[in-house]
Amino acid sequence: QDGLDYLIVGSGLFGAVFAHEMTKRGKKCLVLEKREAVGGNIRCEERDGINVHVYGAHIFHTNNKEVWQYVNQFADFNQYVNSPVANFRGELYNLPFNMNTFHAMWGVTTPAEAAAKIAAQRAEIEGEPRNLEEQAISLVGRDIYEKLIQGYTEKQWGRKCTELPAFIIKRLPVRYTYDNNYFNALYQGIPIGGYNKIIAGLLEGIEVRTGVDYNASRGEYEGVARKVVYTGALDEYFAYQLGRLEYRGLKFETERLEQENHQGVAVMNYTAAEVPYTRIIEHKHFEFGTQPVTYVTREYPQEWKPGEEAYYPVNDERNQQLYEKYAELAAKEDKLILGGRLAMYKYYDMDKVIETALSAVKREAAEE
Ligand code: FAD
Repeated sequence: QDGLDYLIVGSGLFGAVFAHEMTKRGKKCLVLEKREAVGGNIRCEERDGINVHVYGAHIFHTNNKEVWQYVNQFADFNQYVNSPVANFRGELYNLPFNMNTFHAMWGVTTPAEAAAKIAAQRAEIEGEPRNLEEQAISLVGRDIYEKLIQGYTEKQWGRKCTELPAFIIKRLPVRYTYDNNYFNALYQGIPIGGYNKIIAGLLEGIEVRTGVDYNASRGEYEGVARKVVYTGALDEYFAYQLGRLEYRGLKFETERLEQENHQGVAVMNYTAAEVPYTRIIEHKHFEFGTQPVTYVTREYPQEWKPGEEAYYPVNDERNQQLYEKYAELAAKEDKLILGGRLAMYKYYDMDKVIETALSAVKREAAEE
């Protein structure tokens, strides 16, 4: 293992893209992965012919043509378009908020009628919104707030909307067209054959050691490579010497159901406060599956405790300042490259992760 160019910690999208590109350029790479399987959070598990997104539902979407062409090298993408449905006590509404939503809510049929309804309800809030509730009402009015935002947001944050700061919601896009396409992206889809196919293509011919936690086996890998590319949590890299970064957790409850079609859509949001989960994902619909059985996953937002899977960074002031201090320590290590959602302590969509990995490769190439 000596004489490596890059020791890459983490086989998620960032690590896998970096390893692939550098190997292509003739560099010697070794990937370490602490889980038993590669792929990080885009990993799927195949059950009864259905790809189950085990770390949360993943829909690829991007405006970046280079990134789109990049992923298409490893898999073709299907025509899946994300069009989630919100379920409020049995009333169904299309998302994102659009003419279908407004028609179901108020019976309006024209954009002008819908706009007038929203404008009248927005006027309820006078002056600067003092909390998230007032902010949301000032943007879309009370009906949409109470049926589609309030309960969902309170479950996500574990706090009342009246106790959450207004800035959490800056914009609430409203469309006056009958368009249920959730993402405003030029390119969108699910890889045919699943995300594992992309990871397998990226890591083909590259040595990966799974079940190896780099931070727990530093001694063994000291000095083996010219540089270390680290995609794990930054506080963990520094043995939490300045304190711990915080995250929001998620719990997934997956169930096999003896029916062909459970909810008729891949993503159904449950927006009432009394339903404990925020969403039910029916995985087969990402790939237009026709199997006789189906798999559904209920998603429960959770407090996060150290040692649990870290899903969303909490980018508040305390955590952001702590992260900056760790980043200063990291900047002093000239053989260390950081990348990916954990090391950067940032929520990144997949396309951004690929974009930043390709940029890191270009920076490395420019240094030589
Ligand atoms: P990861 O996938 O987390 O990979 C990091 C890897 O490093 C992991 O495999 C980990 O085990 C390993 N590792 C960490 N520490 C060590 C160590 N010490 N030693 C060895 N290995 C280590 N993006 C979209 O574009 N569309 C979506 O619909 C979407 N949905 C999402 C839903 C959820 C619930 C979440 C949480 C994210 C979603 N994302 C989505 C974002 C997407 O998951 C990320 O952009 C992407 O997976 C990040 O890749 P990564 O390589 O940065 O991190």
